Amino acid sequence: MSEKLQKHRILIVDDAPENIKILGQVLKPYHTVSFATNGENALRIVRSEIPPDLILLDIMMPGLDGYEVCRRLKADRKTRNIPVIFITAMSEVEDETRGLEIGAVDYITKPFSRAIVKARVKTHLELKRHRDMLENLSSLDGLTGIPNRRRFDEFFDSEWHLAIRESTFLSLIMLDIDYFKEFNDEYLHVAGDDCLRKVAKSLSHSVRRPTDFVARYGGEEFAAVLPRTDMSGANRVAETMRGNIKSLSIPHVRSSVMPCVTISAGAATIRPSRNFSSDVLIKGADDALYKAKKGGRNQVRSLDMDIQIERS
Ligand code: GH3
Ligand code: MG
Ligand code: MG
Repeated sequence: MSEKLQKHRILIVDDAPENIKILGQVLKPYHTVSFATNGENALRIVRSEIPPDLILLDIMMPGLDGYEVCRRLKADRKTRNIPVIFITAMSEVEDETRGLEIGAVDYITKPFSRAIVKARVKTHLELKRHRDMLENLSSLDGLTGIPNRRRFDEFFDSEWHLAIRESTFLSLIMLDIDYFKEFNDEYLHVAGDDCLRKVAKSLSHSVRRPTDFVARYGGEEFAAVLPRTDMSGANRVAETMRGNIKSLSIPHVRSSVMPCVTISAGAATIRPSRNFSSDVLIKGADDALYKAKKGGRNQVRSLDMDIQIERS
């Protein structure tokens, strides 16, 4: 089923079964609807399953009330972008103001009109789709379609801090196409662009874990972030990447290494700490890449910064 035809998922949270029933009748013909009759269950559904695209949230409920549920959703990076519409009997201006201030996109008072609920849900689903599209566009590289430098910076920074909290290894691989200037001179820029697309695709398919991340770092340079991965793991991934690029067998008659496009890689591993900045890992991978270039290209060099730091 294409994405366009896929039904949106809507979560209805209300402690009154009759409200759930009516809202369900309004929305079921157009959307995939799920229900929760209290705040705790609502949070569980949002966090455990594929998250809903929109939430209709009652305010007065036993246990966690709607304000608190909304506040928790907005405080969590994973659930922050799901639009919440309050649907409530609390009709005072202050109630509505509070709801909107907490981060709800809209506020509907009971008794509600079915047509208005339907129309507002439609509007907010459309707005969310546009927001998601823009966010997606601004974090992807226009030429290759993989994450760009901006997204890399964000991802790398958040994984660095996560690794500090969890005391785990973090590895970074920097990769650079060999003699790419010569490739452009020989085959021209359009072929160069095409080569970059193929390399980006191959590198993205070379990583296995869902937490691994590959980005275009700039020009003909790529970077792979491997959370919870030690030196031997990073080395293995870098070698796989190097092998996969060679196997693409893209002709490159002007390369001094091989008659096809190859890549050099520098891998560095560290156990992040508050005592140094994330730049040290980037510098480490860069230094290793420089050695791979000096050493003759089409090869991987690695640097275990964890051992380096323990020795110093
Ligand atoms: P080395 O083996 O030492 O890495 O040599 P190199 O020629 O690959 O490195 P250099 O940094 O001298 O040249 C990089 C070239 O990459 C220069 C530029 O023409 C090309 N390049 C960078 N970005 C793009 C791009 O978006 N499209 C194309 N077609 N070429 C690009
Ligand atoms: Mg370069
Ligand atoms: Mg290069």
